[in-house]
Amino acid sequence: MSAEHLMQTYAPQPVAFARGEGAWLWDTEGKRYLDALAGIAVNGLGHAHPVLLRALSEQAAKLIHTSNLFRVPEQERAAERVCALAAMDNAFFCNSGSEANEAAIKLARLHGHQRGIENPSIVVMEKAWHGRTLATLSATGSRKAQAGFEPLMGGFLRVPYNDLAAIERPADNQSIVAALLEVLQGEGGIHVAGAEYLRKLRELCDRRQWLLMIDEVQSGIGRTGKWFAHQWAGIVPDVMSLAKGLGSGVPIGACLARGVAAKVFKPGNHGTTFGGGPLVSVAALTTLDVIEKDGLLDHALRMGEVIKGGLERELAGVAGVVEIRGQGLMIGVELAVACAQLVPRALEAGLVINVTAEKVVRLLPPLVIREPEARQVVSILAPLVKTFLAQAPASAAAA
Ligand SMILES: *Cc1c(COP(=O)(O)O)cnc(C)c1O
Repeated sequence: MSAEHLMQTYAPQPVAFARGEGAWLWDTEGKRYLDALAGIAVNGLGHAHPVLLRALSEQAAKLIHTSNLFRVPEQERAAERVCALAAMDNAFFCNSGSEANEAAIKLARLHGHQRGIENPSIVVMEKAWHGRTLATLSATGSRKAQAGFEPLMGGFLRVPYNDLAAIERPADNQSIVAALLEVLQGEGGIHVAGAEYLRKLRELCDRRQWLLMIDEVQSGIGRTGKWFAHQWAGIVPDVMSLAKGLGSGVPIGACLARGVAAKVFKPGNHGTTFGGGPLVSVAALTTLDVIEKDGLLDHALRMGEVIKGGLERELAGVAGVVEIRGQGLMIGVELAVACAQLVPRALEAGLVINVTAEKVVRLLPPLVIREPEARQVVSILAPLVKTFLAQAPASAAAA
């Protein structure tokens, strides 16, 4: 095994997984791990889900791809289904979260031009993550991810997150056509926007004729205990992007639109060769079916409480634990010190986790995680965090 011929875009852990089942993974040496990452919020149904396997193999035996030059019945059904769940009118399918946001950004710009706005701009947030293509990287609020790729794309106006006054300030700027944000920032460190902020933002967008565009790439498809995280605030966006959990590991993204936003794209404005093919559409349809039939929204919420509540109990009063936050099965433990070293230590202990924004342990287990497994995440992770913090420099632990 050698990575010699791979571009060095990642520095992977020295572990390779050979197979999985539910919330468990086995590496090539046969060691077993509890998966509290789910391929970065992708494998909502866990690994090797029998219903998904059957649907995918049956579809693969019929057709995998035909292109969007022909009607794709499975795609039409996936669109109908996901729009019904989201109270949206239509969908464009693509292959990733970045592409879903690219579609949203292009839609907002075209909408601006259709309204006679020559240099449309989009309000975006600090600490936001929208992807790595040039447009979505420009919308992303991470200088680290952007560095070296200048010139970035113009047409974005950045404001602090979860701060209504900050977004009201540029409101007289006539070039603004949309606001793009995550309601629960994932890569940025698990930051949850307040429901009141989101409702006020919805009103502001209505008043200013801005499209409210919500990036649910990580927080959508049941992860927070609702189909989409914005539903906790009782609002409906004009545009929504989806990807990660939508296809349970098969690459599929979607940009959904409602009302005026649903009428912006005409044939020739946007497209994709792969997007929304029969196989990936069946993956999305099956994912939505299983989540519904197996009651995984309520389950995710309860398992989130088990993990978050357990960590709160185990880590209460521990110096160096700044905050435990999140919603459903999207949980962050912010420490006072950089903690990437916890990832290999957790692997050693048979637990797959992630660290984001340098100091935040991020847990994104599959929606199907069982209660004893959820408790096990806590019983493995909490002592690791305590030991790690006890060994960290005293100045940091005291912070
Ligand atoms: C992961 C992510 C993206 C980018 O998705 P890719 O599939 O990696 O292109 C965009 N937005 C959010 C909120 C994400 O978490």
